[in-house]
Order: sequence, then C-alpha cells, then structure tokens
Amino acid sequence: MSTFKAPKGTYDLLPPESATYLAVREAIAAPLRRSGYGYVETPGFENVELFARGVGESTDIVTKEMYTLTTKGGSELALRPEGTASVLRAALEANLHKAGNLPVKLWYSGSYYRYERPQKGRYRHFSQVGAEAIGAEDPSLDAELIILAHDAYRSLGLRNFRLLLNSLGDRTCRPVYRAALQEFLRGLDLDDDTRARIEINPLRVLDDKRDSVQRQLKDAPMMRDHLCEECKAFHEEVRTLLTAAGVAFEDDPRLVRGLDYYTRTTFEFVHDGLGSQSAVGGGGRYDGLSEMIGGPPLPSVGWALGVDRTVLALEAEGVRLELPPTTEVFAVPLGDEARHRLFALVTALRREGVAADLSYGSKGMKNAMKSANRSGARFALLLGDRDLAEGVAQLKDLESGEQKSVALDRVVAEVTATVR
Ligand code: ATP
Ligand code: MG
Repeated sequence: MSTFKAPKGTYDLLPPESATYLAVREAIAAPLRRSGYGYVETPGFENVELFARGVGESTDIVTKEMYTLTTKGGSELALRPEGTASVLRAALEANLHKAGNLPVKLWYSGSYYRYERPQKGRYRHFSQVGAEAIGAEDPSLDAELIILAHDAYRSLGLRNFRLLLNSLGDRTCRPVYRAALQEFLRGLDLDDDTRARIEINPLRVLDDKRDSVQRQLKDAPMMRDHLCEECKAFHEEVRTLLTAAGVAFEDDPRLVRGLDYYTRTTFEFVHDGLGSQSAVGGGGRYDGLSEMIGGPPLPSVGWALGVDRTVLALEAEGVRLELPPTTEVFAVPLGDEARHRLFALVTALRREGVAADLSYGSKGMKNAMKSANRSGARFALLLGDRDLAEGVAQLKDLESGEQKSVALDRVVAEVTATVR
C-alpha cells in the first residue's frame, strides 16, 4: 500500500476490468465512425466562462459541480464538466462550419470532472463518449444520433434500457410556456432555493427528484401542450424516423435535463438495473448554444453517453463482453539459451500480430506454468535443454493438455496458423 489513495469520488481502471471499459468506448465509437463522424479532441480544461455561458449560469454543473482554478498567470480555468461546449468552441475556432459542408459531425471520448456527492454510478471523474452534429436543423440528424446510441447499446448486448423522449420547444414557443409554468410554480409550497429556481430556470423544477415537489407538479402545464407548429412537426418527424428504424421510445413530457442550452429534441437513455443513477446517456438539440458562446447561428444536436454507467449496466444485466484474449501464446524458457531463443520468437510472433508473452525473471517451471495459465493464453511454448539440442520447441494446448514438437524455425509460421 502506498501512503496515497485515489482522490474521493474517483477510481482507477485496472486490468482485467479495464479491458471492458476500452471495449465499451470502442462499441460506442464504432457506429459513429461508420456514419461520417470525425474524431475531435479538446483540452481537459477550458476558460471557465465557456462553461458558464455554454452550460448555463443556473445549472448545477456550473453553480456546484465545476472544478475551477486560477493559473499562476491569472487565467480562470475549469476542468471540463461536459463535452459539448468545448467541441463547439473548437469547431468555431477552426472555422469548420465555414468549409461549406454542414453539418460538421464530430465525436469524442474522454474524461470529465464534476464535484458531486460520490455514490455508485456518480463519480468526480468519469468518462463519456459523445457526438455532435453541428449546423443543420434537420430532424434526420436527431434521429440518426438517437439510433446510433441505441445501436451502440444493443451491440454491447444491453436489453434493459429505455429511451425517454421530449421536445423543449424553441425560441418562439418556449418563452410562452416558461411564463405559464412560472405562474403555476409560484403558487406552490416550495423551499427558497426552488423558488429562486422558478425565476432563473423554471423548467428544471420539473426535474426535481423529491416526492414532496413531484406531488405538487401533477397539474403543471407541459411543454408538449405549448409547442408551436414548427416544433410539433419537427418532433413528429423525429418520432416517425425512430419508429421506422425500430427504435422504441417513451414520451416523457417532464424530461428537461440539466443543461440550459437544449431546444426541441431532448432525450435520455435510462437503464433499469442502476438504481437512482439510472441515466446512462442523454442529449438533445441545442440550436442556441453557438450564439451563446459568440458564434453564428448553428442549430445542432448531440449526445454524451456515460462509459462508467454503461459498464455498470452490463454488470447489472450479467452481460460479459467477448474480448479478444490479451495473450494467445505464453512462452516458458528453461535456461539462459532458451530464454534468448524464446525472446526472439516472441518478438517475431508479436510482429506477426500474435499476442505473445514470456515468463520473465528466473522462475522455475512450476511458477512459469502458473503464469502461463494466469495469462489466459490458449497455448504455452516450452523450451528446455533437450528441445534445444533437438532444434524444437514444445507447443502445449493449455485447454486440452495436448503437446507437440515444432521445429524452431517453423514456430512462428505454425503458431500463427494455429491461433488464426
Ligand atoms: P445525472 O442526472 O445522473 O446527474 P446528467 O444529466 O448530469 O446525469 P449528462 O450531463 O447528460 O448527465 O451526462 C451524460 C451521461 O454522463 C449521463 O447520462 C451519465 O451516464 C454520465 N454521467 C454524468 N455525470 C456523471 C458522474 N458524475 N459520474 C458518472 N457518470 C456520469
Ligand atoms: Mg448531473
């Protein structure tokens, strides 16, 4: 044990479990790569003002959850709490939207930081894979992204997730609805913090998890009854496209999500095996965000899926991913000369694309074979003095126990052919 521990609310990814995390990231990314999304990577920190404006001054993320710091040079930075504002900032800065090819479709994968109350599924450092389609007001993009997330979860073998769908209206119909909602909320029995929220971001009151609040919201006006004709038609088109693609959804008129910048389509994927941290991913349309951070009007849509919670969802469903073996052949040398020969053979095998490893240090046969078994390798390659004299190595199938001699100059070809 070292004197130090991972900071509160964080954990380390270690083998063998870490392989599952990589596979989840890869499974989410694969459908995006096939759909015209290019990889983007932005810094782990940004000017704090980007998030204040882009995520919203009144959100929990900005008011409570951001890790902020002042540099020695006096800049106010924040560890990124989410990806969308940074990705849009990067796209605008590089003028990607001016290349005449809208939408700009980007995907990302990385670490995010939020100062939260740590619990299962809620950490201070977590991982997301996200996607953004920037600069087009087309319901096919909303549908495309939702389908890609759905397909990613399915490809991982998940079944018990649900898609919640809502529309938050646009700058025509939302203000009218907002006023109606505020009027309703002001008449309720609420604490001071919530009363303050009514004036800043009343939609978020709908998202309050407390029973005492939810009970009073039964007759609250709903956005879906206030959508303008354009928003209604847009939402209908998204629903039609999802249905045609075989993606089931549930209308959730209370789904508002934590970020201020959403307009129209908003959605969340929830998993029923995760207790209260049930959201595995979410996103929506953010037609106003670009202007909020000083850019031109660029209607956009995107999502972020939580890698940590997706892994927990796999565990909850008892899904074990079929991962490629970390080691296919494990070499066990007996003696120095054998070590030299096997070192060279392992190097050659690796260069042929075979996952090969070697017993290091001066282990005896018994311990070396234990290492071979622990490595998960299907085959062991044994080399002792008698083998050397005969110019062969022993290739042992660790599952069946069968063993055969292979001429040393045939080992690479033979092993490569066997493991393929
Ligand atoms: P929640 O309502 O659970 O706080 P959120 O609305 O804040 O989630 P988003 O900002 O939409 O979450 O982030 C997208 C996804 O990232 C979430 O659905 C979740 O899977 C994951 N996520 C968000 N915050 C955390 C966290 N603190 N720890 C682990 N995963 C997280
Ligand atoms: Mg949150």
